[in-house]
Amino acid sequence: MTREGTSVSSLYFMQTTTSARLKRLRYSLEAHGVGALLETHLPNIYYLSGFSGDSGALLVDSSSATLFTDGRFTIQAKQECPGIRTRIHRGSLLEAVGEHLRKKGRNRVAVSPSRLTLAGWKALKKAAGSSVKWAGVDGIAERLRAVKDPFEIQCLRESARLGSEVMEETIRQIRPGVTELEIAAEIGYRMRRKGASGESFEAIVAAGPRSALPHARPTERRIGKNELVVLDLGAILRHYCSDLTRTVYFGRAPVRVKQWYQAVLDAQLAARNVLRAGVSAGTVDAAARNVLQHKGLGRYFVHSTGHGLGIEIHEDPRVARGQKWSLEAGNVITLEPGVYMEGVGGIRIEDEALVTPRGAEILTSAPREFIEI
Ligand code: ZN
Ligand code: ZN
Repeated sequence: MTREGTSVSSLYFMQTTTSARLKRLRYSLEAHGVGALLETHLPNIYYLSGFSGDSGALLVDSSSATLFTDGRFTIQAKQECPGIRTRIHRGSLLEAVGEHLRKKGRNRVAVSPSRLTLAGWKALKKAAGSSVKWAGVDGIAERLRAVKDPFEIQCLRESARLGSEVMEETIRQIRPGVTELEIAAEIGYRMRRKGASGESFEAIVAAGPRSALPHARPTERRIGKNELVVLDLGAILRHYCSDLTRTVYFGRAPVRVKQWYQAVLDAQLAARNVLRAGVSAGTVDAAARNVLQHKGLGRYFVHSTGHGLGIEIHEDPRVARGQKWSLEAGNVITLEPGVYMEGVGGIRIEDEALVTPRGAEILTSAPREFIEI
């Protein structure tokens, strides 16, 4: 949906969605014993107000929400958040917010320490003066965002479908002599042709021994015979990210590579099978990890099993070793076990799962069976 194409009904929808979210946020502020939240993290601002500009701050208290932004976004703010008061500032954003708070004589305002720079915090505090009391609380809006509402689930479904289509098409593009960068360029191009506003992260295309680097950046290296190729990609569609990984083999794979692949697939399936509302994130991680450990591959699984995703590519909950976070219906997480052997290569299989009361629904759809090209 383009901005020009935003219909009156979808604006109305966005307004009712954001007001429902603000209501949930206010309950949470009450529970934290604070009168207001100063939100400075742009994805949280988008979630709570619909504003998608790249500079702003949002102040929410028990009865109002005020967006602070600059003159570049006057029209955009009016279009995107009709129900929210907007203040256009000149100069420093946080100073403008601080001065506003000083005039209001605000009670206790929550800010997220991990989202502020030291310089920003100092400027804010100075401008607000001593009458404003602060509370440093991380993750208030992030906690709400972890449970997706039906509109978000729909956006995530569509983003996952787009990512899966691009994955299937890209695998068909792999030819001898093509470079990792050429494949990565193809991924970005195909996503935008299908309506994505961009990539949710720089696509990983890693061949041969480079596939053992879980976060390899694509290079000018040419894909050669008898190599593993890891493709990890994601699109942003209507502000929502997708994320999936497939590993293919260029040539005829040795038996041991097929066995490793099967072990990773079994690990993903084990994680998927324990997944449902009420289970801890650590239990899901352990399910995948145990499979690889039993196959003697535990030490090659060097990262966590998954992460939440939504407006951002990495969100709560983290699906990692020992995580106590109890999963809820509406969480959307990745399941991405992998093994990485230095000098040989890596294998990762990643899909997105929506947590439901009784299990999991997989949102990504590209085939998972071992592909030899
Ligand atoms: Zn990924
Ligand atoms: Zn991921």
